[in-house]
Amino acid sequence: MIYTCYEMVRDCRAGLPEGWIHFISHYVPVCRQTLAHYAPEKAGDAALLDHILLAVRQPESFIFQATEPPEERWFVAQLRQFIVAALAAPAAEIPLDLETLTAALAPLTMTEKQATWFETMRYPPALAGPMLRVSPETVERVRHRAAELIRGKVDSWRRTLLAENGPALGREAAAGGGGADCLPTKAFLDVVDGRTTWRGREMMDRHLASCWHCVDHFCRILEVVHLLRGSQPLSEAESQPYRELLGVAARKRTGWKRMIGGA
Ligand SMILES: [Zn+2]
Repeated sequence: MIYTCYEMVRDCRAGLPEGWIHFISHYVPVCRQTLAHYAPEKAGDAALLDHILLAVRQPESFIFQATEPPEERWFVAQLRQFIVAALAAPAAEIPLDLETLTAALAPLTMTEKQATWFETMRYPPALAGPMLRVSPETVERVRHRAAELIRGKVDSWRRTLLAENGPALGREAAAGGGGADCLPTKAFLDVVDGRTTWRGREMMDRHLASCWHCVDHFCRILEVVHLLRGSQPLSEAESQPYRELLGVAARKRTGWKRMIGGA
């Protein structure tokens, strides 16, 4: 029988251990990957991961406040936002805001904007290309053009400007938007799953041309697909320290399993 993400969220909210046990085995690896990507300098910091997991367990965390029916990719997108928000990113030396970015990148298409936005999310062309289903060389070329366009609009510029401003731009994009024309998670999942019509896609292109909120949202959904593709659940032994951390009762174990698992 398949235990869905929907059931997991329901059980976590009800305080049932099954929910948290599933969360630990399936989503601690995603937490680790997200931390390794957004805070590589803290990748070995076990206390940081513990802190994040304890925060997810709090009643005010996103897991208790779903506004859309929890589908796995929606859930991981929320988890990613939660983790990134928990990382105290330093302010960029040369600030860049969305208004400037909008003015600079007006000539770019939707996919070109996404290729550029993935730079704020620290994904190199070799990773961003496959997520956008274009070649890494295309991403490289678009980024070069975007860099020149931005350079023409700012007083001081450097190669790492987009990456350095990533956390602030991501916050600004996520906070803004949400207007009547903004698209729900499902619309982006439909594109990923090939369920979208040409008309739907055209409307999306038009909207994303002027909405960073949705460009960011779409990129984060593509990121989630990428994160889940490379993710392996934890074994029972690997889960054990996190079960203890979250105070989730372990399943009854037989003697030999205890010996192996406790190693
Ligand atoms: Zn929008």
